[in-house]
Amino acid sequence: MPTLAVDGGAPVRSTLLPYGHQIIDDADIAAVVRVLRSEWLTTGPAVETFEREVAATVGARHAVALANGTAALHAAAFAAGIGPDRGAVTTPMTFAASANCVRYLGGRVQFADVQPDSLNIDPAAVAPLMQDGTAAIIAVDFTGQPADLDELRALADASGACLIEDAAHALGATYGGRPVGSVAHLTTFSFHPVKHITTGEGGIVTTNDERLAARLRLFRNHGITTDARQREAAGSWFYEMTALGFNYRLSDLQCALGSAQLTRLSDWVARRRAIAAHYAAAFADEAALELPSVRPGRDSAWHLYVVRLRLERLTVDRHQVFKALRAENIGVNVHYIPVPWHPYYRDLGFARGGWPVAEAAYERLLSMPMWAGMTDGDVADTVAAVKKVLRAYRR
Ligand SMILES: *Cc1c(COP(=O)(O)O)cnc(C)c1O
Repeated sequence: MPTLAVDGGAPVRSTLLPYGHQIIDDADIAAVVRVLRSEWLTTGPAVETFEREVAATVGARHAVALANGTAALHAAAFAAGIGPDRGAVTTPMTFAASANCVRYLGGRVQFADVQPDSLNIDPAAVAPLMQDGTAAIIAVDFTGQPADLDELRALADASGACLIEDAAHALGATYGGRPVGSVAHLTTFSFHPVKHITTGEGGIVTTNDERLAARLRLFRNHGITTDARQREAAGSWFYEMTALGFNYRLSDLQCALGSAQLTRLSDWVARRRAIAAHYAAAFADEAALELPSVRPGRDSAWHLYVVRLRLERLTVDRHQVFKALRAENIGVNVHYIPVPWHPYYRDLGFARGGWPVAEAAYERLLSMPMWAGMTDGDVADTVAAVKKVLRAYRR
């Protein structure tokens, strides 16, 4: 058996393969340079173009671009009416921003446990948490697999609440044949470089509701009712601030990059699906791995490929497997530490043990490298390193 790199042996590859990475080509660069030579650097025509293209891609009537995915969640929470008396229910198995957006507005957060297969929020756990003061359910499409959107939307509608779908992982996914972005009341996306397409930093919210779209636009521009370009076109100086908004605008520079990236989205999602299929075939006989599954009627966008270790089949814990794979230069990661475990939420009164499915899963999670620019050689290196490490630690 070859010596593991963590024990001084030769690593499977000589350079670190990251778990996610952007793809930038000459057309992306040319698109940004065109904006640099133009009249508008921020909130010009490229913003509207990008918004129109994203709305068309996901089949939504409106798209409102924001500074990043977290700002998109903050704006969606504002539009949904979250505030000191109006809270939200979300999942513990996510990045902290999905819950933080409620706290920015002073709202109460509740966490509902996840389903054992998908690790998506469980509607059966959400139902008992819905109260008069619940303004929103914030679901996350974990790893790119859509949550139970119909059931969650029905729960939200029954309480006069909004379903906010944090689809940071799910651009390009479908649910019952419909693209993610057209199903929930409000759907948020992120264009951080590890996501499906990038604008550097960036985000967007899609909705079919004109009133919600107007609230989003207000919130991203200080709560002011018109933007500078509209005022210039109207030859007017007058404006009014009607709510406490932010400067959460996404610039023309970034939107031009987003439009150039969006033309390759379907190719990139197809490549992610092919990598997921390759992993599934290569790992099928690994007794120490529990592989991700996708429920019928949905297509995952495969932002992440998250396996669960069967620790009872191994002589070591997840931390040691993680360290051994990093030593082989495979950039594995862990998504996610349950949000209520973070000290900020602990200080709000959340105690461990309230979300047994998410918490038990967390100890076993490992994210494999997954991005559209991975070569077949990168995929083969990952498979070889995982097999090498699991063989060494087999019980
Ligand atoms: C990336 C991500 C965000 C935040 O997006 P940013 O653009 O980094 O602010 C929010 N929620 C989830 C689930 C994410 O993966």
